[in-house]
Amino acid sequence: MYQAEHLLILHPANPETACTQKELITLLKEIQFIDAEEILSRFQIGDKFLQQVTFLGCSPNIELSPNGDQAYVYVEIPQTTSEISFHSGKNLKFPRCPHCKETLKNIAADIAEANVINSLSCLACKETFNPLGFNWRKSAFFGKCQVIIGNIYDAEAVPNENLLSYLAKLTNDTWKYSYIRR
Ligand SMILES: [Zn+2]
Repeated sequence: MYQAEHLLILHPANPETACTQKELITLLKEIQFIDAEEILSRFQIGDKFLQQVTFLGCSPNIELSPNGDQAYVYVEIPQTTSEISFHSGKNLKFPRCPHCKETLKNIAADIAEANVINSLSCLACKETFNPLGFNWRKSAFFGKCQVIIGNIYDAEAVPNENLLSYLAKLTNDTWKYSYIRR
């Protein structure tokens, strides 16, 4: 089963915002963003997918349906989690400590190991900071629910305003997006 390495992930702006996986699936089917479920939580793109995501290259050479082990674009909607999780990958743009400006290269591991994610401390200056408010420059996010689009490279495509506004209406929060490389 093909697993994409490059992901475009849509997520609410506020990490606390959540709706159920079922609500997301219902909405995205209704607007034909997704079609049949291939395997658990993973869907083929719907008939109106290409009207709701804008590819920025002049002629995107993308495969839109599964074909053996070949790369193709799909949509994954994981279960909503009750706690806030941190999502990042190999392309993480490291933030700087708000106190001493040291680059926080260990941030992903620090968040994974922390009991309380909103109060971490800097190895260099020992001051505490809250990573929930950090700007990850579209390379990571905190949240409870997400819509993953598999096989989209960094800045290759963007969700259009119409799609984001449907998601905003469902959750009463604006939605953002990030590019994550597993
Ligand atoms: Zn520091």
